[in-house]
Amino acid sequence: MSIFTNRDGSRDGHHKPAGYSAFDLFRRGLLGTQWPRAWRSHDLKPSYDVVIVGGGVHGLATAYYLAANHGITDVAVLEKGYIGGGASGRNTAIIRSNYLTPEGTRFYDRSVKLYETLAADLNFNVMFSQRGHLTLAHSDSALRTSRWRAEVNKLQGVDSEVIGPEEIKKLVPYLDTSEHARYPILGALYHPPGGIIRHDAVVWGYARGADAHGAHIHQNTEVLGIEVANGRVRGVRTNRGDVAAPVVVNCTAGWSSLISEMAGVKLPITTFPLQAAVTEPVRPFLEAVIVSGTLHVYVSQTDRGELVFGASVDPFPSYSMRGSLEFTEGLAGHVLELMPSLAKLRVLRQWAGLCDMTPDFAPIMGITPVEGFYVDVGWGTYGFKAGPVSGETMAQLIATGKTPPLIAAFDLARFAEGRLVGEKGAASVGH
Ligand SMILES: Cc1cc2nc3c(=O)[nH]c(=O)nc-3n(C[C@H](O)[C@H](O)[C@H](O)COP(=O)(O)OP(=O)(O)OC[C@H]3O[C@@H](n4cnc5c(N)ncnc54)[C@H](O)[C@@H]3O)c2cc1C
Repeated sequence: MSIFTNRDGSRDGHHKPAGYSAFDLFRRGLLGTQWPRAWRSHDLKPSYDVVIVGGGVHGLATAYYLAANHGITDVAVLEKGYIGGGASGRNTAIIRSNYLTPEGTRFYDRSVKLYETLAADLNFNVMFSQRGHLTLAHSDSALRTSRWRAEVNKLQGVDSEVIGPEEIKKLVPYLDTSEHARYPILGALYHPPGGIIRHDAVVWGYARGADAHGAHIHQNTEVLGIEVANGRVRGVRTNRGDVAAPVVVNCTAGWSSLISEMAGVKLPITTFPLQAAVTEPVRPFLEAVIVSGTLHVYVSQTDRGELVFGASVDPFPSYSMRGSLEFTEGLAGHVLELMPSLAKLRVLRQWAGLCDMTPDFAPIMGITPVEGFYVDVGWGTYGFKAGPVSGETMAQLIATGKTPPLIAAFDLARFAEGRLVGEKGAASVGH
């Protein structure tokens, strides 16, 4: 019997979280029956086979795939606040794979494929909407980079092409595609599989799936230190006590260099705030996701009708997560260059999250000089879309001890050996 269909709401340790039947939904709604918790609370055990630091999409996906794909279930996810309270709950939820390098394109393409079946795999509606993604080119050099990306994408089997202003106008009638615009639109990289998703649902879906497989999710559990002896990781110190573990995985996005330093591993990372903003909801009019590198802005419309805007990281490193008026002013100015008809729309909220930037705008994944201590970090402004593939490949690495080819190029050693994966051309406008 499924854990979610027990009449008394109890759970019987079933492995795949099931959904509710229509009758169940009706019955629970009508009777006000208590809903079972989607993931449980546990006592912190003194040891686990694997400890994952960070309860964002990367940590939870790693826990889920360790169990679902490799049968490794003695896993703890340690989260200092609440799950999804870091960048995974603060991003603009854009999913795409139209990157600049073959390594990046292949990697993100696998993630898009996993996202396409995620709702069915987790039995949880993650609201993935593949509505198309347009990167506008306002200059000859931007158009050249778009062509370059389109060719790299096609060679990796990813659907991308360069289109002209007329086709752009058909896709997004509200864009100012006239020659008189301050930054005329010369063309765009069009990527039909790109789109948006409901970020909280992805986090909750992975948490529910990992929990159903037996992983322990510990919220309000902060890692304060990492024990290393004779070049090997031994466990972690937390605000709730010590935990021994032969494997510790760092999945902490904006805090990753601090956590790695606890194990004595230095990362070439600088942390910047990234801001975003959302407007009041309006009638649906914007189908595709629009990005302009020249104007440093991107925009999409949610299913509720709000416009979600983002830009590049703040111009100075910081761990502050405050919004600023400068950001909103700059953003509004740039948005109006693209769509003057939005002038009367009101901004409802703005917020910020932390982004760990690497020198080449590509992540750092895999082993470290400390045996048993793994990193899945350096996610900059673009790591939400990578959650599924990162979880899948990190789980494979931990279970088999072999680095999956898909992440081999993102190893930490590349910085010492001069093998950078230059992804800035496709990743500098945060998303
Ligand atoms: C405004 C904004 C917009 C973005 N837009 C996009 C986008 O459109 N598309 C995209 O792909 N990406 C986007 N990103 C980037 C994306 O959000 C992140 O790369 C991704 O969510 C990182 O996920 P994660 O699981 O690695 O980290 P997080 O979700 O940040 O999770 C890490 C967790 O670690 C916890 N933690 C930290 N220190 C400790 C400790 N000592 N002990 C225990 N736990 C700890 C934190 O509380 C946090 O919850 C955006 C980011 C921001 C800020």
